Amino acid sequence: MFEETNKMLSSIIEEMGEKTRQNKYIYPKSLQRLEKGYITLAKIGGEKVLLLINATNWLGYNDFSGNEMKIGGSKVKIAPTNHENACALRWYFPFTAPMPLGNNGCSMGMGDRLGLATPGHVRAIDGTGIKPVFAQQSIRELTLTGRSFTEVLDDVTWGVFQEGYQSGFGADGDHLKHENEVKEALDAGYTMITLDCSEKLDNTIGTKASSEIAEVYNKQKTDIAYKLEDIYLEKNLTFGRYKLYLDELNFKKIVLTYLPAINHIENIYKNNIMSRCKEIDFEISIDETTFPTSPEAHFFVAAELERRDIKVTSIAPRFIGEFQKGIDYIGDISKFEKQFMIHAAIAAFFGYKLSIHSGSDKFKVFPIIGKYTRERLHLKTAGTSWLEALKVVARYQPQLLCAMYRHALMHVDKARSYYQVGMDITKMPAPETVTEDNVKSILRQDDTRQLMHITYGFFLHPEAGVFREKIYSLLKNNEEAYLDILKKHFSKHIELINMGQSSKGGMR
Ligand SMILES: [Zn+2]
Repeated sequence: MFEETNKMLSSIIEEMGEKTRQNKYIYPKSLQRLEKGYITLAKIGGEKVLLLINATNWLGYNDFSGNEMKIGGSKVKIAPTNHENACALRWYFPFTAPMPLGNNGCSMGMGDRLGLATPGHVRAIDGTGIKPVFAQQSIRELTLTGRSFTEVLDDVTWGVFQEGYQSGFGADGDHLKHENEVKEALDAGYTMITLDCSEKLDNTIGTKASSEIAEVYNKQKTDIAYKLEDIYLEKNLTFGRYKLYLDELNFKKIVLTYLPAINHIENIYKNNIMSRCKEIDFEISIDETTFPTSPEAHFFVAAELERRDIKVTSIAPRFIGEFQKGIDYIGDISKFEKQFMIHAAIAAFFGYKLSIHSGSDKFKVFPIIGKYTRERLHLKTAGTSWLEALKVVARYQPQLLCAMYRHALMHVDKARSYYQVGMDITKMPAPETVTEDNVKSILRQDDTRQLMHITYGFFLHPEAGVFREKIYSLLKNNEEAYLDILKKHFSKHIELINMGQSSKGGMR
């Protein structure tokens, strides 16, 4: 039967190709059988289209717009991969629509700034038991690439359909700060919100002298603070086999630093999340601070959220050492492990996933992360799929990557105003020394790797002109190469986390 179908499809595609004198390709995993006909994704003349074959009797037929043709003995509707058709696809094939992933299990955020990476992400994740978040962009990323929440989700829908992936995925409005952003993401159908509390966290408190802290605290002291003193001040906070103690100074510091953020979270939760009356993954990010989140502060935030009946699915603290974008962990690994296990125990105690931001490429600590998080982990990666795309550029058009490097260097100051990274410009090779033969090395060296990581907007924004066109056409023409590279890269992440999970020690 399949043979027969295949034959019919290839003859249709063959004929269409001949008619248009263009290359043609069918995505075999996308093929879905309808009552009588078929629906499948194909690539014709470099463009992806949906083909509805002999499907006029199918319930959904008229909800897809496109041109009808008679090919061979078959009636074929060629539907473009636009927003309207993506909506219809999500309606008739619900596995192409996002869903909430819940507060347990291991999940992975796989941001894709290009809109081309989802099939590669699917191939890495399929069969691993990890729940993926394929649609994930922050406002900063949307602005820099000139995309919208809707476009990001549509790209993912087509990618999921292309691979025939039916195990479910999430869509994350990432690092949202304001109410209107949360609303926009949820209106676009997103199933997860990551609330970035950085604007509500007071970064200055930790640097003040103890007398000054007491003074500020007394000035701001409200009824809420009295209540908090009753609950936390000079109390033992126990969870699992751990115990923390909040002395007066630390208590005041934590209240002053985090209380405005907790009030903000409560506001957003009650007015925008709970009021939607459907399940939404709600992540709290307190990682974009100038200081690490202490276990005491993490516990306080978690306990306060629980006391206020705010259900979170994950919390992202800032860990000790450095989680810089696109490069490996920097810092003392044994110190990291000691504190990480406490953060993981707090998350397990309150029942949410511990979220790791800037989580790509942290190969040195993945086994530790896997070991202590058990089934409550969210690992978020945003820009690493873009860097993997640059490997494809290096392979097929090294001269283009040389030009991109020069362009990135010219815009380094602007890029730095969007992203905090540790890169050192003096360690980057002079542009005239970077040639087709050695340009690959800029993707390996930490400083230049970060440079390319944060300058994506200068290549991908619609106003980036010729760069954007060249990059997209190169990646579309070498789709399988890009997907292969992505699969390898993410599989390496997953293997190392699993390695930690299988060597679990005496936790819990
Ligand atoms: Zn973050």
